[in-house]
Amino acid sequence: MKDVISVMIPEEEMKKRISELGAQITEDYQGEAVHLVCILKGSVFFTCELAQHIHVPLTIDFMRVASYGDGTTSSGIVRLSKDLDDSIEGKNVIVVEDIVDTGRTLSYLLKLFEQRKPKSLKLCTLLSKPARRVTEIEGDYTGFEIPDKFVVGFGLDFAEHYRNLPYIGVIEELGDERE
Ligand code: 5GP
Repeated sequence: MKDVISVMIPEEEMKKRISELGAQITEDYQGEAVHLVCILKGSVFFTCELAQHIHVPLTIDFMRVASYGDGTTSSGIVRLSKDLDDSIEGKNVIVVEDIVDTGRTLSYLLKLFEQRKPKSLKLCTLLSKPARRVTEIEGDYTGFEIPDKFVVGFGLDFAEHYRNLPYIGVIEELGDERE
């Protein structure tokens, strides 16, 4: 039996909101160069879609982190399994994240990036679960605030599956095989 997934945010709504975020970033930076930092793997789909709607000189770099926790909640102890390729010193950095849940991972990462002396540092997150927050972290750009449910799609996974769904969904029922 396959997993049963319901749609929380449909594809068209996702695309529309991401284009609005891109337009907002374009307006805010007024032609200044922007350096997107994509946090792998979850943010990769969002970063690609977002980047196409930002119309200022743009570069992209990638970081991969593993956050230790009990499986459902991150601990804030973060291990970098891939660091950035390039220095961010003096750059207008926008960290692109798939979801801010407790905020622990981002709290750690933003402190780390701040130490590397960017010209400016902002956070753009596709999703936010405010009910779960245990830190002060808020996105400067937020796609959608969602209720406290475990979501998949648009880069977000369940055991590495479902990143390729073009919408945000909720697993309503677990089957005995992944598609
Ligand atoms: P935080 O440190 O904010 O609690 O955790 C952020 C990370 O937890 C996200 O980057 C993501 O990898 C994972 N995460 C949090 N909520 C969800 C969710 O609803 N679905 C999925 N697939 N991952 C989530």
